[in-house]
Amino acid sequence: MTDLTHKKLVEIAYKWVLNNTSCGIAFRELECGTSTEIPDVIGFGSWGHSVLIEVKTSRADFWFSRFIRIRDMEEDGYCRCITCGKVLLPKEADCAHYLKRQHQATRFTEMNTGAQCGKCNRFEQGRDVIFRQKLVEKYGEDRIAMMEMEARKPYKQTQYRLDYIAALYKQKAEQLAREKGISLW
Ligand SMILES: [Zn+2]
Repeated sequence: MTDLTHKKLVEIAYKWVLNNTSCGIAFRELECGTSTEIPDVIGFGSWGHSVLIEVKTSRADFWFSRFIRIRDMEEDGYCRCITCGKVLLPKEADCAHYLKRQHQATRFTEMNTGAQCGKCNRFEQGRDVIFRQKLVEKYGEDRIAMMEMEARKPYKQTQYRLDYIAALYKQKAEQLAREKGISLW
């Protein structure tokens, strides 16, 4: 399956709004990234109705990522990069995947993730050998091996599931933030 980027999804949604609705105006959110809650595409109809297309994948990723980084925040308010130990604020850390995000079956598996620094995650291919070792220390060899098999299975992501994941992890992130006494950034 082709891994559609956020930008590409917004582009498709924008075109859909222009072509398939009676919208007088279509607005495209140009600020790309997952750090915004502004709807990505809105169409305004000529008699006041509006069409909102949420980019489901990005919303599910957005809330899942927030939850993981709050989960990995230690008592002093900082995360440690899972592979190099660098000290980071949760909002500075990446929610990194050991088995990469293109594996849909394990994209939202909590055990597959850890807070990581940008250098390890983006410039050193996730340092996956060390990443794996750290996960094995935490969860055990058997569970990690099972997860690796799971990742290889064909998996069809559904819009329904992405909606569910977004709602679930929004709730989990907000609750955990309250419990840990931090405000969401
Ligand atoms: Zn690192």
